Amino acid sequence: MHWILLYTVAVMSCLFCKIIEGTIPSTAVYQDEQCYAFADIHPQAPIHILIAPRAHIVSLNEAGGGDRALLGHLLWAAAEIARSKGLAKGYRVVVNTGEDGGQTVDHLHVHLLGGRSLSWPPG
Ligand code: 5GP
Ligand code: ZN
Repeated sequence: MHWILLYTVAVMSCLFCKIIEGTIPSTAVYQDEQCYAFADIHPQAPIHILIAPRAHIVSLNEAGGGDRALLGHLLWAAAEIARSKGLAKGYRVVVNTGEDGGQTVDHLHVHLLGGRSLSWPPG
């Protein structure tokens, strides 16, 4: 019972859960039963889309063995969106994780960046 309460509190206070629910507006790009993809509010490239699981998972580090198919699904969705956006020259997929990884929203999400030449390494 305790974990259900903790999960509910986390979901209620989570920005991306609110976006997925529709409480906070967003520009939807793709969605299915497992994930919701939407335009980043502060794009770092001409195409900058976030792909988030509908389930509240804090980060890649909190994804468990039972989430392996979901993690694969998120990458597949990123590639599918990239194809639909015509990113034939390439793109980048990023999962910022934790404090050192630069994660600012504690709901797992995949960044899809494209539409320009991207430099490497990141800062
Ligand atoms: P992170 O830094 O956690 O990897 O990525 C969080 C991303 O969410 C950032 O790129 C940021 O611009 C985006 N973001 C933050 N708040 C909002 C919001 O309210 N709406 C949308 N669409 N994107 C947001
Ligand atoms: Zn959430």
